[in-house]
Amino acid sequence: MNIIGSSNARVGLPIGMAVLRKGGSALDAVELAIRAVESNPLDHTVGLGGLPNLLGTVELDASIMDGSTRTAGAVGGVRRFEHPISIARRVMQDLPHAFLVGEGAERFALECGFEETDLLTAEAQEIYQRGLRDGKAGAPHASAVLRAMVGRLAMQPERASGKDAGTVNVLALDGHGHLAAGVSTSGFAWKYPGRVGDSAVIGAGNYCDNRYGAAACTGRGEMAIRAATAHSIVMYLRAGDGPDGAGRRAMEDLNDLEDPYFSAMNCVVLTPEGHHAAFSSEETAMYVFMDESSVEVQEAPRTFVRVAAGRA
Ligand code: ASP
Repeated sequence: MNIIGSSNARVGLPIGMAVLRKGGSALDAVELAIRAVESNPLDHTVGLGGLPNLLGTVELDASIMDGSTRTAGAVGGVRRFEHPISIARRVMQDLPHAFLVGEGAERFALECGFEETDLLTAEAQEIYQRGLRDGKAGAPHASAVLRAMVGRLAMQPERASGKDAGTVNVLALDGHGHLAAGVSTSGFAWKYPGRVGDSAVIGAGNYCDNRYGAAACTGRGEMAIRAATAHSIVMYLRAGDGPDGAGRRAMEDLNDLEDPYFSAMNCVVLTPEGHHAAFSSEETAMYVFMDESSVEVQEAPRTFVRVAAGRA
């Protein structure tokens, strides 16, 4: 039994591990661990307290995948609901679909009985408005918006000071040998309204297959979408790489792509045997994990992989 995640999953891992210890499923462990992160108002990258889009509206993306069936559920651009990971799970379980966005996802959330809430905290509002005052965002047409985003993205490594910048990843292996993977995010702050990132895209930010392993990403979502990074990792596992080789190769794949907006890429990997690894294009990034013998959340450095070509 193992549960691993991005650094900001620390508040949720003990909850997920308790589920696994009681014989619960990897899916339940992933969902409950991520819900705790979504409810953490101090985390400005996920759920309640997440930073808003360019117009000041918090739009959330999330996805969940069951490695035993390879069924998946995802939601993109969801407003006013604190737990997009749970809506994504209901999409997976209750609908003949895998992905809902915007108003349809919100309608479905209401039908499921999820309560609406105001996601924009006073602190997130203040950070958002400071960004507007700094002239980094707020231009009414797309080219200026993109210029503003470049300015904002360039600030991220400094603001993140070695921690994962945005988005929570959680991967779990339960006592029955099943894997599950979940991702939840408020996406890039000051993003263009309606922009959906890799966190909601199965194969990009999230992929899980009991036979080979689970993987999830944080960082520059557009790159993970273009390179199908989470799926690549699992396919490299399938081809015989260990978690260290698979993650490194998927990170190095990004060097084939040009991206003037590149900020960072991070990924976490968990195998059906419980081996795990994590990678980052930033030198001081960490990840967190627990297993059945853990008395507390453990932390380890991610393997640094240079992603130079991403900067074009
Ligand atoms: N991957 C997220 C996105 O593209 C952002 C992040 O992890 O920083 O929305």
